[in-house]
Parts: sequence; structure tokens; C-alpha cells
Amino acid sequence: MRHIGFIAYLLNLTANLEPGKDIMTEEIFAHDGYLTEFEAVVSATDGDWVSLDCTAFYPGGGGQAHDTGALRGKRVEMVERRKDGIWHLCPGHGLEAGDKIWCSVDWDRRYELMKGHTAEHMLFGALNRLVPDLSIVKIDIEYGDKYVIVDRDVSWDIVSDAVASVNKAIDENLSVFKSSMDRDDPELEHIRAKLDRIEGSEISVVEIDGFDIAACGGLHVMETEEIGFVFADRKVSSGKEGYAIHFKVGEAAKKASSELAYGCLKTSEALNSKPSDVEKTAANLRSELNETRILLKKAGRALVEGAGEKRFSDIIVRYGVFPAEIDTLAEAAENWKTKGQIAVLATETDPSSVILASGDARVDCKKILANVLSSVGGRGGGKKDFARGGMSKGADPAAFIEKAISAVGNVLSIL
Ligand SMILES: [Zn+2]
Repeated sequence: MRHIGFIAYLLNLTANLEPGKDIMTEEIFAHDGYLTEFEAVVSATDGDWVSLDCTAFYPGGGGQAHDTGALRGKRVEMVERRKDGIWHLCPGHGLEAGDKIWCSVDWDRRYELMKGHTAEHMLFGALNRLVPDLSIVKIDIEYGDKYVIVDRDVSWDIVSDAVASVNKAIDENLSVFKSSMDRDDPELEHIRAKLDRIEGSEISVVEIDGFDIAACGGLHVMETEEIGFVFADRKVSSGKEGYAIHFKVGEAAKKASSELAYGCLKTSEALNSKPSDVEKTAANLRSELNETRILLKKAGRALVEGAGEKRFSDIIVRYGVFPAEIDTLAEAAENWKTKGQIAVLATETDPSSVILASGDARVDCKKILANVLSSVGGRGGGKKDFARGGMSKGADPAAFIEKAISAVGNVLSIL
């Protein structure tokens, strides 16, 4: 099939040449995405770069990654389009202008990119039917990762409906047609196109029979069945741009969907819930967890209020080890500090988190905390009036409290 395509390409070649147009590299991929082995003549070299009279190497564009392959057996690592044609990065090529060479594009990579690109048209087309004013911001079709960025978050329910309609269309084996339209053609209004991103007067249009039509200069498969299967497995915020919907095609899509399904089954087992109830169970647990946190915070605050008190002349030191969150202790320490008091607090956890805060300028919390922690095990830092740290695992928080109070006492009695 690939070679039949090439013969058709050769027959059409002269018809497609515009008189007077300076074409430095004939673009085989534009006529036949399936032709990956070809003979070419080297037109020029530029260090590790080589340009040819014709090439099947896609230089990338329209969101689709460039091809890789070989020129006379040497690896082509990059391909790029320049004003004077298409150039191939081929380190150590040893070629000269005029050399007639055999070239090959990595078919596995190219074919996956073609499937991914066609799947992207279908996925966005399906999403667009469900959310009519949805806009496409960017696409990225790489060998491993593929995504489409849309202008807003789309629920998993919508994504799964869109993916289901794409897979149905894949099973129906729709034909993919390529044609070209004049940039001024009024019909272009009915076609999804980012005309500001497309150069030239001729616009390539890709139609997936009855399913989607869009302007695109990339490479696509001829029939949807070739894609095999599509699965969207990740949604990530892209900041101001919107949301990236990542997807996979073929075997990688089947593998990802199976792994995620078994992940869900394991989660439902761990949550002791039926798979069909797993969403509801997770939502309930989350709400219970939030309520528990609120209660825990209240209990922690009440406990800390009962902190020990020690006086060095008129200065009050509040201290203790508490089964409370470090944020609760920090809140109490800030409060005592503003009243001119000193706080020496630790969490009843292993490892323990500790705080030293002072409303008395004579006490350097950062220095004392660092000294005490280095003797009882741990590290910390902060400011002169508020320092916090973490003890080593197994170190006793009571020892920290005792030594820190004694160090504070030394400062206040000496000065
Ligand atoms: Zn495309």
C-alpha cells in the first residue's frame, strides 16, 4: 500500500508544482504519510545538517512532533523546516551535495504520531459537540505523551462520553479525507481552523467522514480503525491557558485503561466499598476527615490552654508537650508572644515538632533553639522572636522542653 501511494505521489508531483515557486525540498509526507523508505539526492550540507531534494521526514508542526530515522544508515535525530527547505540533523553523516542516498523514517514513531494526531481531531471534535463553545488552545502530539489543551476544565463525565463516541467511530472505521481549500473560501467558516497559525494561501483540510472536519497540515491515518483505541487518562491545569487533557492511543491506551480500572478496584477494596460506590465512599470519607480535623483543632487548642507556667521574675514561660498539630501550637505561641510571654512547645509525635517563641527581646529564640536541638537531636531555624524545628526520630520532646526552659532561664537571670 505504501508504494502504491508513492506512485500516485509521483504521478501527481508535476501537477502539484506551482510554476515559479522555489521548492527546495519536495515534501513526500504531504502526499503520502505511509511512505517511509525513499531515495533522495543531497542538495546541501551544513555541519551535522543535511538537506535533500525530496524527503518523507516530517519536520514537525501543527502540534505534531518531528520524525526520526536514518540517512544512508546514520541516525536522523531532528528535522526542521527552514526557508530554504527541510533539514535533517544527522551527526557524522559524511555526505556531500549530489550524493544519491537511501533514507528511512522510523515507522513505529511516525505511525503512532499519525494515530495520535487523528485521535486528537476526533477527541476535540467529540468534546466540542458536548460543549459547543469549548475552544482548543494548543495541542502536543509526542511519541510518548499526547494532549490537547482546552480553555476550561471539563468534567470526567463529559470526557468519558467524548472518548466513548471516539471509540465508537474508531470501530465504525471511518475514512479520513485530505483536501485543500483556498484561504479566501467562504466554506472555511464552517471548518475548525486557526488561520492565524497557518501560512500560505492553500489550507489543508482533514475530514473524518461525518465525524469531524478541521484545517490541519499534520499527518493522519487513512482510516479510523488504525487508531485501535483511545483513552484519556489525565487532566491537568495549564494555568491561564486552561486544562490539558492527556490521552493515549492503541495498546498504550488499552494498558492505561486496564491499569486504572484495577487501581479503582483495589481502592474500592481498601475502602471496603463496592466499585460502583467508590466515588460516594471517597466523598463521604473526605467530608468526615474535614469534620475530624476541625474537632482535632478544637481539642488541641483546649489542651494547649492548659500549658505549664514557669516564671523568671516577672516573665512567664508557657510550656508543654501536646497531642496537637504544630499549627495549633504555633497559633498559641504567637498569642503568648504578643502578651510579652515566652512559649516552649512540642508535639507529642515521633519525630516531634518544636516551637520557641518570645515576647521578650532579650531571648534569641533562633540561637537557643539551634543549641538545644543540637544537644537533644534535631534541627531548626527561624527568627529571633519565633523559631521552630523538628527533632530526630526517637528523640524525647520532654528533654527539649527542659533544656530550652533552662536556657531561657539562664538568659533572663544573667541579663
Ligand atoms: Zn491534524
